[in-house]
Amino acid sequence: MIALALSLFVQSAAASELKAEAEAGVDALREFTQQVVDQTFSYGELGFQEHLTAAYLGGILERHGFAVERGVAGMPSAWVASWGAGKPVIGFIADVDGIPQASQKPGVAYHDPLVKDAPGHGEGHNAGQAVNITAAIVLKSLMEKRRIPGTLRLYPGVAEELLAGKAHLVRAGLFKDVDVVLGSHVASEFATYWGQRNLGLVSVQYTFRGKAAHSAGAPWKGRSALDAVELMNAGWNFRREHVPPHTRLHYVIVDGGDQPNVVPPQATVWYFLRGKDGNEIRELREIGTRIAKGATLMTDTTVTERLVGSAWPTHFNRPVAEAQQKNIERVGMPSWSEADQALARALQKEIGVPVDGLRLKVTPLGPPKEPSAGTDDIGDISWVVPTVYLRYPSNIPNLPGHSWADGVAMATPLAHKGATAGAKVQALTAIDLLLSPELVASARAWFDDVQTKDLKYATFLGLDDKPPVELNREKRERWEPELRKYFFDPSKHKTYLEQLGIRYPTLR
Ligand SMILES: [Zn+2]
Repeated sequence: MIALALSLFVQSAAASELKAEAEAGVDALREFTQQVVDQTFSYGELGFQEHLTAAYLGGILERHGFAVERGVAGMPSAWVASWGAGKPVIGFIADVDGIPQASQKPGVAYHDPLVKDAPGHGEGHNAGQAVNITAAIVLKSLMEKRRIPGTLRLYPGVAEELLAGKAHLVRAGLFKDVDVVLGSHVASEFATYWGQRNLGLVSVQYTFRGKAAHSAGAPWKGRSALDAVELMNAGWNFRREHVPPHTRLHYVIVDGGDQPNVVPPQATVWYFLRGKDGNEIRELREIGTRIAKGATLMTDTTVTERLVGSAWPTHFNRPVAEAQQKNIERVGMPSWSEADQALARALQKEIGVPVDGLRLKVTPLGPPKEPSAGTDDIGDISWVVPTVYLRYPSNIPNLPGHSWADGVAMATPLAHKGATAGAKVQALTAIDLLLSPELVASARAWFDDVQTKDLKYATFLGLDDKPPVELNREKRERWEPELRKYFFDPSKHKTYLEQLGIRYPTLR
């Protein structure tokens, strides 16, 4: 007993010394972190087209001694970076993809695209890898110096906006030997959660096929695939009231025919069907299949389905979240400057949301609330390995999400400070796991005995479902030559704001 108490004491003294060193290490990398945030922002790549981002981030990790395997799980822009040996194996993941039509000059508190209509980081996914990689570099050097055993494993969230990457990472077995995953995601708060946080979904494209004909001369000889799409949408819009109210369904018509004087022989509608657990999501998919079939019966067309994305609802690990919360409280909110606050308030005013500036306090850890309606495909990972998701404060509160407004802060001191704070918490939580086998064991016990006691993970992917890596290729070809003119060049400029000649903040 005395020996155990003593060993716990030695362990906690070692932990607190190591944590102070880790925080100093992250502070010393501030400029590096800022560069990674800015460089990734300037690429603004969309899901499955994150090739420059992958080459850049993988290159950094290789130069720091990580072994990088590229093109994993059938996705050219996905990779896994590993360093170290033995247990525990700690995984780090953060998304890397942008949002269509979200191009925006950083530091400018109104809509002012860098390239009009081009994609951009309108979700703030450009900062998460800076958080994780900074933490991993610091951890590696501490582990080498102190001969601490363990393995660091880094992954990108490819095509998170399409919910189309992580289920494939899981199916490829890339988390099989991982003990705990520490994800990081941009937020306007400094927070972590345990339990269910989100809805899950399937993302399905329904392609109808009919018969072409002259729309005026012989329309009775045609069978319109677009009619079938419209009837499918009408069907779902009537049915909407008779599914559980927390579910969400939304669609876009990705192909509605070529021109009005040809009866469309082919048309495609793309649905996201969101529900709160695996069974409910499967049921929504079955309803969708029946509605699509109904539309074919009304139009004498045929339909095929393609699953292009899927995500289990997120479910985060309580023991690790509790340890992480202590680290969030230890690190605290970044100290915002008057310029940071002025940018935040001006943007909030511009878009007509409460003008309350940036948050000053970290979010307390509470019991799970009603899941939010959004989805993140880290859900699949959270059902195969104990996982937590750090929300680090690099963005402005009250923004709409998935828009130019969410890109405003993302290559400014505001985002840089949040990324540094986030990197500290990632490093500190990894230290807890490296030094405390008890924490790793209790994470596993909670995962086995509570989270997955009655509900086991089974992927939504069918055997033939492959990652739809061709998505966004045309958008990439359209926009990359334009965006290239604005790629960040850290050999010439210290920051992206400096390169663009933007005064911080730029207000109306
Ligand atoms: Zn996201």
